[in-house]
Amino acid sequence: MNANLFDRLERSIADLAKTAIATPAETAVSYADLIALSGRLANVLVRRGVKPGDRVAVQVEKSVPALVLYLATVRAGAVYLPLNTAYTLAELDYFIGDAEPSLIVCDPAKRQGIEPLAAKVGAAVEGLDAEGQGTLMEAAADAPDAFETVSRAGDDLAAILYTSGTTGRSKGAMLTHDNLVSNALTLKEVWRFTAEDVLIHALPIYHTHGLFVASNVTLFSGASMIFLPKFDADEILGLMSRATALMGVPTFYVRLLQHPGLTQESTSGMRLFVSGSAPLLAETHRAWSARTGHAILERYGMTETNMNTSNPYDGDRVPGAVGLPLPGVSARITDPESGRELARNEIGMIEVKGPNVFKGYWRMPEKTAAEFRTDGFFITGDLGKMDERGYVHILGRGKDLVITGGFNVYPKEIEDEIDAIPGVFESAVIGVPHADFGEGVTAVVVRSGEAAVDERTILSALEDRLAKFKLPKRVVFVEELPRNTMGKVQKNILRERYSDLYRPAARAS
Ligand code: ATP
Ligand code: MG
Repeated sequence: MNANLFDRLERSIADLAKTAIATPAETAVSYADLIALSGRLANVLVRRGVKPGDRVAVQVEKSVPALVLYLATVRAGAVYLPLNTAYTLAELDYFIGDAEPSLIVCDPAKRQGIEPLAAKVGAAVEGLDAEGQGTLMEAAADAPDAFETVSRAGDDLAAILYTSGTTGRSKGAMLTHDNLVSNALTLKEVWRFTAEDVLIHALPIYHTHGLFVASNVTLFSGASMIFLPKFDADEILGLMSRATALMGVPTFYVRLLQHPGLTQESTSGMRLFVSGSAPLLAETHRAWSARTGHAILERYGMTETNMNTSNPYDGDRVPGAVGLPLPGVSARITDPESGRELARNEIGMIEVKGPNVFKGYWRMPEKTAAEFRTDGFFITGDLGKMDERGYVHILGRGKDLVITGGFNVYPKEIEDEIDAIPGVFESAVIGVPHADFGEGVTAVVVRSGEAAVDERTILSALEDRLAKFKLPKRVVFVEELPRNTMGKVQKNILRERYSDLYRPAARAS
């Protein structure tokens, strides 16, 4: 049987007349429209010489045509490769050189800049903008809707998605048809998605969260989604009366909480609020529950594995925890050095195994081999623990672990304590080179403005609560933390910024 994701999707749709994607302003696109349009575009891709296994790189603003292009690429048996729309030409040069796509689809306005990069790898270029204009759509005008979806095996590649580049250079994660389908079906089950659901979709679709979590779950449920080009609190609140679910990053929830329109009443028709991609502050979780009566459901995923864990739909959604391993996914905590499995509540490396786990990093066989254990577990790079009930708690990334005077300090533990101090909005704890300690624990803090808080207040509040070696050597205050487009705090920028903090000259000044 054809294991192509599209084939499996098509077979699962019960009502073709149902709206698949709507935008606030425009007409809705039904499932029948999606199938027809994707067929037409798949015909164009094949005419352009795209063959099964070829990469189709796409840097197009979020729009219905951009999503259709994802489906069309998969139908043609090719590998969908979305690129962050914020990437500059210099960044694109790396991705295009690394991925060697046979076709690049980009905003017509960027075409001139991209042509020379495409020429280096012999890729064709087509234009497509968010309004659906451009050479790609022009070519589709006379293409037939009918297209026989190319047969693929379950472990053939459906997509290559580059990681967010939070800890270093982005890596291409190779995702198979089986990876994506199994994840969509599992999420549908655990989040109780049905054709009656209407998702407010305000995430970008070049990232795993918006594409393989939000969009795939909706499509595999035969549900509807309302596409917003980006986060807009007014718009989202306005849509809640005709939607059932919202999937977002923590900053969505922080900003919605700042809006007076967020009430129990305005959210009464909604059944599900999901947060992921970055840690949700326990404070945000509690404030949201108090204000709306809904407990945010936090989950944990990554480009390489789609989703690993989710707080339960029914049952305790624990603030500060990312929930239980998904059905079919095994998770364990291991000693980072020896790989030995640790007991409950011991802190170590989070490892996962399951049908969600990717095939490897594109053209990085050594890196791939290094990130997998011999029994097939993938080493996520995230540090955490599993509590008595099996809930996973993330304590930061392995790369963010601070080693000070020979002791391991897990940033999240310190951040949680700091965030609970009145007058603090949020914090990031980093390790900065220190002559005596190797690294000095350093807290970067954003004030909330509610109470005057300074370095001394913070340190004295922490003194009673944390062992001495965990106490920040310095506390610095900033207006906001640097974040990437997915709302992730960029600790490498902070480490760079404060790299001289403990140099003698800096100490004297
Ligand atoms: P790179 O791998 O290139 O450094 P990245 O890890 O940020 O970038 P993504 O795959 O987009 O790229 O992000 C996955 C990571 O996001 C996870 O490994 C984890 O560190 C973090 N993450 C995701 N969900 C959560 C969550 N609910 N709480 C805390 N961290 C989360
Ligand atoms: Mg990562």
